[in-house]
Amino acid sequence: MTDENEGISPLLHEGSLLIDGEWVAPLSGESSPVIDPGTEERIGTVGLAGDADVEAAVAVARQAFAEERWMRLSAQQRSAIIWKLSDLIAENIDELARLESLDVGMPEPTARAMIGEAVNMYRYFAGWADKVYGVSAEIGPAEMRFQGFTRKEPVGVAALITSWNAPMIGNAMKLGPALAAGCVTILKPSEEASLTTLALGGLALKAGVPAGVVNVLTGVGGVVGAALTGHDGVDKVSFTGSTAVGRQIVEAAAGNLKKLSLELGGKSPMIVLPDADLEAALPALAVGMFWNSGQICTSGTRLLAHADIADRVAEGVAEVARNMKIGYRTEPGVELGPLVSARQLGRVEDYVAGAKEDGATVITGGRRTGDRGYYYEPTVLTDVDPSMRVVKEEVFGPVLGVMSWSDVDEAVAVANDTSYGLASSVWTRDVNAALTVARRIRAGRVNINIHRAGGVQLPIGGYKQSGWGRECGPEGISEFLETKSVVTRIWT
Ligand code: NAD
Repeated sequence: MTDENEGISPLLHEGSLLIDGEWVAPLSGESSPVIDPGTEERIGTVGLAGDADVEAAVAVARQAFAEERWMRLSAQQRSAIIWKLSDLIAENIDELARLESLDVGMPEPTARAMIGEAVNMYRYFAGWADKVYGVSAEIGPAEMRFQGFTRKEPVGVAALITSWNAPMIGNAMKLGPALAAGCVTILKPSEEASLTTLALGGLALKAGVPAGVVNVLTGVGGVVGAALTGHDGVDKVSFTGSTAVGRQIVEAAAGNLKKLSLELGGKSPMIVLPDADLEAALPALAVGMFWNSGQICTSGTRLLAHADIADRVAEGVAEVARNMKIGYRTEPGVELGPLVSARQLGRVEDYVAGAKEDGATVITGGRRTGDRGYYYEPTVLTDVDPSMRVVKEEVFGPVLGVMSWSDVDEAVAVANDTSYGLASSVWTRDVNAALTVARRIRAGRVNINIHRAGGVQLPIGGYKQSGWGRECGPEGISEFLETKSVVTRIWT
């Protein structure tokens, strides 16, 4: 454990906010402890911004945008700076992975894998910076000709609000395209896990992002997040978090009709057809559900297996889950860390207790493990049905519900019987069956014979109440751009 006086990391200015290129103490004078969820020990301090800090950051961001501190650089210069940021993240991956895993609880190799993916994301978006351009068109009848073209312009000041479950990735999906599009940003990480976002702010400065273009406000969602989303000086909010908070942001944004991207919750189905290769599928289904202790928006929380194989699939996944090593983030071979907080642990315990009351059977897991740290066993429930809370609502923890079906229409109907529509997977050897089910699923992503495969090249986002807009791919850039048509008369 780090001595508090030494500070938790050389990458941090602990307790400070980043505004206009300077590390400043919150005007609110408030701070909160950072807790290691694996030990429940205090490991550091984070500043809690208040309304006055939000006012200061928005004023700086508006000024930076008006002065074109970022856009006056050439597209190639901006691209090089974003790439430099990716290099600095890669150079500091050991320290960043240590911080991410300390803050969130995930095993260090998991954090390292996520940060490696974040590096890829910044590189992809660095490549976009000089590819942001519109179309041109000759318009009009022969007697009066016009030449028109579109300009792609940054949407302005963007507040980037993220969840705690994968902070470096969550930030990369927003900051990468925001910078590539030319926006000025205010990052607002979750109060549960702010450390790597602060480190990222420092690395952005070091990479050459001008002062005031990347600002970081740590603090409580109901204060800082609410103030940013309701602020007339903010043009765009890109949000990752729960559907409940997403709804509050829609209301808060109505004042100036700011643009919104919302990456919200999920209740993703994994549909196993009777011909699936179970030997390969069972461990992969378990990973699809339990990776990062189920604290992933795309986790495959509803397993829908054909009746002929449902018992085998449930027992097989349970067997893999039983053998997953749970432990502290630095223990060799550890696969699952703790949940992020006492609150999250309590939430998971409540859902499992409720499921049992509703008639579910726990075939593995179903309880906390150890009495220090927020560890919870990977849990498989059978005897569940779509009317139960544990099947309808997002638990955001390691809890899987297994259901069976007898024909594929029923499987598709149950898969779609949810207010969410983020991700899904189909497991079969039959490519026609896989593609037919893929077409019929109402979700932003369908994986085949794997769950949660994607890349920065392809968009991710939600149908229904899983959100608005898309992150990654060309769509991810568009979320941070306005389109302007310019038309000139040509005298002939
Ligand atoms: P959360 O909604 O509680 O918080 C998310 C962020 O919003 C935090 O930074 C929080 O401080 C802030 N916030 C809270 N109240 C706010 C308000 N009134 N106004 C503005 N901001 C506010 O979510 P969480 O518990 O941090 O994360 C878990 C949720 O995130 C899950 O629902 C999960 O599915 C979702 N998630 C979605 C994706 C995706 O890509 N769709 C990815 C990761 C997580």
